[in-house]
Parts: sequence; C-alpha cells; structure tokens
Amino acid sequence: MKSLVFATNNKHKIEEATSILHSTYKIISLKDLDYSDDIPETEATLEGNASLKAWHIYNKFGIDCFADDTGLEVEALNGAPGVYSARYAGPENDFNRNVSKLLHELQRYKNRRARFRTIISLIIKGSETKFEGIINGSITTERFGYHGFGYDPVFVPKGYSQTIAELDPELKNKISHRALALQKMADFLGL
Ligand code: IMP
Repeated sequence: MKSLVFATNNKHKIEEATSILHSTYKIISLKDLDYSDDIPETEATLEGNASLKAWHIYNKFGIDCFADDTGLEVEALNGAPGVYSARYAGPENDFNRNVSKLLHELQRYKNRRARFRTIISLIIKGSETKFEGIINGSITTERFGYHGFGYDPVFVPKGYSQTIAELDPELKNKISHRALALQKMADFLGL
C-alpha cells in the first residue's frame, strides 16, 4: 500500500483523511514521523498557509505529503475569523476561548450565516496542486454536542438542524469542508 503524509497532528483530521483515502493510501501523521515542531503559519491566506506547511514537510523529509488550512468565515464579521480561526482569542489556540469569543462577537447580529473553507496543498514529487472544500451553514447562539473539535459545537450545516458536534462523525466525514477537499484530492489521485 502507498503512503502519504498528512502534515498535521490533529487526530480528528487524520481520521477524516483515513476514512476517505484508506483503500489506497496509508495516512501518516507528523507524530508517526516523530516530528513535533510547530510549523509556521505566517501567510495571510488559507492558500498560503496550506502551501507553506506542505512545502515545509516536503523540504524536510523529501516525501509526498499534503497539508490543509481551514478558516471559519462569518458573513456578519466580514469573513472573520478566517485565516486567523485558530488564534481568534489569542495565540494559545484554545478552541473553547475561540468559540466564546465568536458567540460574544455575534451577539448583536441577526445574520448568523457562516462557512468553513479548507484549502489542501498536495505535493507529489515536488509538484504542488491545491484543492478547495466549502460547507455553508450558520452559527448557533450556544454550544451543542461533543463530537469533533474547534467550532463544531456552534456550526449547523445548511440543510441540517443540529451542529456538527451533535451529528454522527461519519456524516461529518462525508459533508465537511475538509471531506470535500479530500474527495477532490482523491479524484485527482485517481481513487
Ligand atoms: P487549521 O489551521 O486547519 O487547523 O484550522 C484552523 C482552526 O479552524 C482550528 O483551530 C479550528 O478552530 C477551526 N477548524 C478547522 N477545521 C475545523 C472543523 O472541521 N470543525 C471545526 N472547527 C475547525
């Protein structure tokens, strides 16, 4: 079986990627490579950061890999937190504080529309290709559910009445922003 490095240590992301690519690829995490350094996310766009992370790992290990960067884009906040979603409430990347800040900022808005957008950068033999996945939805006024991570407890996908954190994780693996980008990558890889 072929293997492909996913430049992340987020076990939820590894599970999502494994569930889509498992028939052909063994997904290797940075932990599997014994690599725990922080990869800088210094670009101002999701595209830039996904690319930066993938090239960082490709240049270090010389192996085919992909990296993703995701942002929650909230309409009433003009697209914020966007590329800064992980550090919305401060540099420590605390999911709970980020969600609290989002709910607080949105208190005075009726428009709760939002979307998750993922960019994946795939590098195969030194050649880069990017894939985008988007899921539209809305932000609740409080947290619901315990599955997933990040903003999942406050995001209701369009067409559903529960947050991603309440929905079956298997469903998230089919409809999420990252699942859509991963699926495009799988199509590109001929799976
Ligand atoms: P990352 O840099 O791709 O890990 O994503 C930035 C931030 O977006 C994370 O810290 C999470 O707060 C949020 N995020 C990314 N993917 C998801 C998801 O699938 N559900 C909920 N929040 C997410």
